[in-house]
Amino acid sequence: MPLRPSPAAPAPGPVLERLDAKASSLGGGLTIRRALPHHARRRIGPWVFLDHFGPLPVTPGGGMDVAPHPHIGLQTVTWLLEGRILHKDSLGYEQEIRPGQLNWMTAGSGIAHSEETPADESGSMHGVQLWLALPGPVRDIAPAFEHHPTLPRLDLGGTEVTVIAGTLDGHTSPATMHSPMVALDIPPGSAPVALPLDPAFEHGILPVGGEVVVAGERVAPGTLLYLGTGREQVDVDTTQGHAVMVGGAPLFEDILLWWNFVARTPDEVVEATRAWNAGELAGPVAAYQGDRLSAPPVP
Ligand code: MN
Repeated sequence: MPLRPSPAAPAPGPVLERLDAKASSLGGGLTIRRALPHHARRRIGPWVFLDHFGPLPVTPGGGMDVAPHPHIGLQTVTWLLEGRILHKDSLGYEQEIRPGQLNWMTAGSGIAHSEETPADESGSMHGVQLWLALPGPVRDIAPAFEHHPTLPRLDLGGTEVTVIAGTLDGHTSPATMHSPMVALDIPPGSAPVALPLDPAFEHGILPVGGEVVVAGERVAPGTLLYLGTGREQVDVDTTQGHAVMVGGAPLFEDILLWWNFVARTPDEVVEATRAWNAGELAGPVAAYQGDRLSAPPVP
């Protein structure tokens, strides 16, 4: 696969595009459905990577153990539906996250982190991990980590929507953003909601449980529904399901996604790979017991 940056390609107006996620097994029975990047649609606004993992029952001592690895040029969002994950990073943060809480990590010029299921966890592992590209002028900013234990929630006629990022109906998430965007959690509710949207944004709906009806289209986990641009609102029915919505202003830059890096040119990827494998990109994740991951060879 040649390394080639991809341009923004937002639909010029409202569409309903079904994008099948690529399912893979990460061992231990954990299924990951990767909705972005997709061959037919590389990103939605700044969102370049959407993973939905689980649900999977966790036995004590089992679960997730992702060894230290680096990121550059992006922000990562961890949002859990069930269970707990322990984050440790090269800035010295050690933070457990639970459903309803937000881990929001800014990689910028470089950060390393690990993600583990706490040893005493015996519930379920279920959540999403999302990445968004930082715009060119700020993509080399200093790395940062934010944990937000509570987020704004709005009762929209019997469905309590959480504002993970951006603003909904005057309620704004505390997560630090570097381009206009939104991310919402729409849990099972008692009635369909009419979500107000920014018509300048492109949007997508990721079902994470049950069946969701969006603008009359039925979708279930494993399918991302791309809504295009130009919508003032959209009807979302989660009476039988649970969904995460992402959106944002199209980022009109050619972006190159490789391994855990968001870059602009192959040379940047080659340099980040060299620097990580030489121990020069980000510091150690001191709190993690075990070896770190190596960057794969660049094609
Ligand atoms: Mn990561």
